[in-house]
Order: sequence, then C-alpha cells, then structure tokens
Amino acid sequence: MIAFEEAYSRVLAETTPVAEVVRIPVEAALGRVLSAPVLADADVPNHDNAAMDGYAVCSAAFPAADAVTVTVVAELPAGERLTRRVGAGEAVRIMTGAPVPPGCDCVVMQERVQRVGDRVTLPEGVGPGENIRLAGEDIRAGSLVLNRGCRLRPAHLGLLSALGRAEVEVFRRPVVALLSTGNEVIPAGTPLQPGQVHDSNRSALWASLQALGVEVLDLGLARDSREAIAAALARGAAEADAVISTGGVSVGDYDLVKEVLQDQGRIHFWQVAMKPGKPQAYGQLGRARFFGLPGNPVSCLTVFLLMVRPALLRLMGAADEPPKRMRATFRGSLNKKHSRMDFIRGVAHCDAGGVWVETTGPQGSGILTSLAKANVLIVLPESPVRLGDGDAVTIQWIEYV
Ligand code: AMP
Ligand code: MG
Repeated sequence: MIAFEEAYSRVLAETTPVAEVVRIPVEAALGRVLSAPVLADADVPNHDNAAMDGYAVCSAAFPAADAVTVTVVAELPAGERLTRRVGAGEAVRIMTGAPVPPGCDCVVMQERVQRVGDRVTLPEGVGPGENIRLAGEDIRAGSLVLNRGCRLRPAHLGLLSALGRAEVEVFRRPVVALLSTGNEVIPAGTPLQPGQVHDSNRSALWASLQALGVEVLDLGLARDSREAIAAALARGAAEADAVISTGGVSVGDYDLVKEVLQDQGRIHFWQVAMKPGKPQAYGQLGRARFFGLPGNPVSCLTVFLLMVRPALLRLMGAADEPPKRMRATFRGSLNKKHSRMDFIRGVAHCDAGGVWVETTGPQGSGILTSLAKANVLIVLPESPVRLGDGDAVTIQWIEYV
C-alpha cells in the first residue's frame, strides 16, 4: 500500500499530454486547452476612449476652482471618430466607447453637467485622464495574454475575440475509454433480479468525462470473466489514450481486472492508503494510461476526482491545477480510527463567522447520496483523529469541470 500523496504524484508524473494539435473556431473552444501561448498583436483597447457618456474637453483649459460654460461643437457616438482638434471653450458630446477626440484629455460625466441648447456648464475641478480608458490599458501589444496549457473558460474566449482571433490552436481531445465490470451489474432501465445492482458508475464517470471535455469511448459492461475483460481492455488500448474501468480491482475471487492488466500491460501500483477507495489499479495498457477504479460508487467517483481527473487534465495538455483546498471550521463530531487518509463528504457554508463545514451524514462507500449532497471533501490526515465543534480542518472543493 502506498501513501495517497505518493500515488497522486506518480499518477501525475506518468501522464504526458497528447501530442497532436488542431485549429478550431473560438466559439467551439470552451473547455479546450491551448497548445501554444497567445500573444497580443495590438493594444486592447485599440484607442483612448470614453468610459462614460458625457462631454470630452481639455482639462488644461479650465480654472481649478470654478464651473465653466463651453460650447458643444460635435457629437460622437461609439464607432465614430472626430478628426478635427477640439479647442479651449469647446466640448464634444461623447458616448461610452467613442475615441477621445484630438485635443481632449478627459470626459465629464453627463450627470455632472448642465446643458442648455448647445451650451454646457461643467463643474469645477475637471482633471486630466478622468473617465478615459487608455489604449492598451487592458492588453499591451506584444504581451503574453494566455499561457500554453490554459483551459479555455468563457473569459478566455472573450479575450481571444477581443484580440481579433476567430480561431485558436488547441490540443486534440484525448479519447478516454470507460468500462464497468461485475456479474451483478446491469444497465439502468432493466429491472433488477435478486442480487443485482444498476450500473451507476458508468453514468457518473461518463458525465465526469464530459464535464472535463474529453472524448468518451464506451466499452460497456463486462462480465467478471478474463475473456470479457481482456476483450474490452484490448479495444480500449487500441482506440483510446486512457482506459478507465470500475470494479474488479480488489482481492476477491472475481476481481480479475488486475490479472488482465498484468497480462496485457503493466501495473504500477494498486493499493492506496486512502478512504474511500483503497483498491485501485494504475498502469499502462499498450499506449494507453490505465486507471482501475474501485466498484463501490462513492469510492469510484471520489478516486476519479482525486486521482484520475488531475491525470486526465495533464493528458489534455492542461497546466497543473493544485487541488482547491482551504481551512474551515468543523461542526459536528467525528472519530477517525484508521490510518489511511480520509476524504469525508461534506457541505461547506460561508457566513459572517467564516467558512464552516459539516458532513453529509453516513459515509459508507456505497452511500452515493453522501457524495451527491457534498460540495467539499474534508481531508483528514493518515493519523487517527477525533474532531469536535470548532476544530479546524482542511477542505477540498469538489470540482468536476
Ligand atoms: P468490486 O469493486 O467489483 O468488488 O465492487 C464493489 C461493490 O461495488 C460491489 O457491491 C458492487 O456490486 C458495486 N459495484 C461495482 N460496479 C458497480 C457499478 N458499475 N455501479 C454500481 N455499483 C457497482
Ligand atoms: Mg466486482
């Protein structure tokens, strides 16, 4: 059995990004990973412009302490440009986004002026730079805007568009194959016979993979037989960049996944000092990374979140994202006796006193509701620990996307 942190580092270290890159339209790039850095080829914004609707003037033409009345000589909607110089005693009616006219260095908000006909009275103390957005204040031409490995979120796509890009270079989406195992496991939609369970792992993992943005190859449901598992894994190895299986990695007589992995590939390690999810199997299957997850639904999804998801992000080419952890105040009571790391399903709240966390109730590895209710995992160290109201704990946010 190896420690969680060691297993985590090894799983990450053994995973490298897919090699191929593709050019795709920005509007199709949500969740994709940049394969090259993005540099700005122009300033954003491209010109000094009005941050408010109001009047553009030259501040130097005004006394510091008195209101002053000037003549409105032009009107400038966004998208238009004034080429003539604006002189002392003149103002330009200007709308948000319009380029600041030559000769002007500030925009006075329209709420602060009084206008009568083409005359406008400006308040005292009009200062240079007021309500002007400078060219390049968001992005300087030539600067690095996004790094290779950036997972493209809506704001990143906005930035690419702001830079004028209609296409972007990203890593190819990895193909991840998904297999459930178990004689007792049947698809949802089919009535249960005595002793059977519905396959909840495959839909939960499928959704997790979709949320990440990889391509899923469904290997279906294999019986607990060497032949069935071997056939499914062989297909996964041939067609996918990574293969995930659930069930069959423990020490029971029908836990055959490890044996098949040993025949067809290599097992790196298979027991991790964590709860839920001690039995796991990591290795290599041809050119595919292999992740054998435990069958218990909570273990399966928790191990996916903690170990497999970070590895898949690496496979996707994404820059490493350290687990989002923070400290919180525990409420309730809990006595952890074992000496594996524990990841307790919890709900974190934030109120005036700060962040506090409670468990979601029964924590058995078959209690999938405990995970469905949770927004965090309470991370407990290997050593036994007794927790009561007010104790400080580490929480890790549950993130699928
Ligand atoms: P295993 O890891 O194969 O020993 O399975 C451990 C437990 O998880 C058993 O109670 C199985 O019935 C259950 N299980 C295995 N695979 C699934 C699945 N795909 N969906 C729901 N439960 C499962
Ligand atoms: Mg099984």
